Amino acid sequence: MRRAVFLDRDGTLLEEANYLSELRGLVFFPYTVAAVRLLNQSGFAVVVVTNQGGIARGIVKEAFIAEAHAFIDEKLAQGGARIDAYYYCPHHPEGAIAAFSNDCECRKPKPGQLLQAAADLDLDLPRSFVVGDRWTDVDAGEAVGARGVLVRTGHGRESERQSRPSAVVADNLIEAVAWILRQP
Ligand SMILES: [Mg+2]
Ligand SMILES: [Zn+2]
Repeated sequence: MRRAVFLDRDGTLLEEANYLSELRGLVFFPYTVAAVRLLNQSGFAVVVVTNQGGIARGIVKEAFIAEAHAFIDEKLAQGGARIDAYYYCPHHPEGAIAAFSNDCECRKPKPGQLLQAAADLDLDLPRSFVVGDRWTDVDAGEAVGARGVLVRTGHGRESERQSRPSAVVADNLIEAVAWILRQP
């Protein structure tokens, strides 16, 4: 079984774009490629888990998800880095598109995306980590016994104001990765 680092996408792996729906809104942080590459080199499966409620709301086209992830893959590959798998939740309890407007099991903080990844990739969840800019990211990880790191990018500074005594908080993804790599 492999250990994984689950990465939230918007605000964590990428700049927060407030419903990313076009490639021109997709912006890497200066350290994004290096952070993913470090995790690759350390033997972690790197798995993106992202709530895309914009699909249910009719703001993001579902086809754009594959397009965006192919673009991310290409850019990472140029730097020798790779995402092992992507998962997304297209649902929202108050969506505009009926097919996606439900209270699903895959919208973080529920752990459906992580459980699916664990089944697909044979992941060791209690020895895995999740990094995100919202407590819902951290909670999805903790629900399956993984350890969470909140980053201060994206919505992270707002999240941090509702601080939690035991939480691990890092400035950004590369700092979170550095912390993860120091754990026994
Ligand atoms: Mg986020
Ligand atoms: Zn869902």
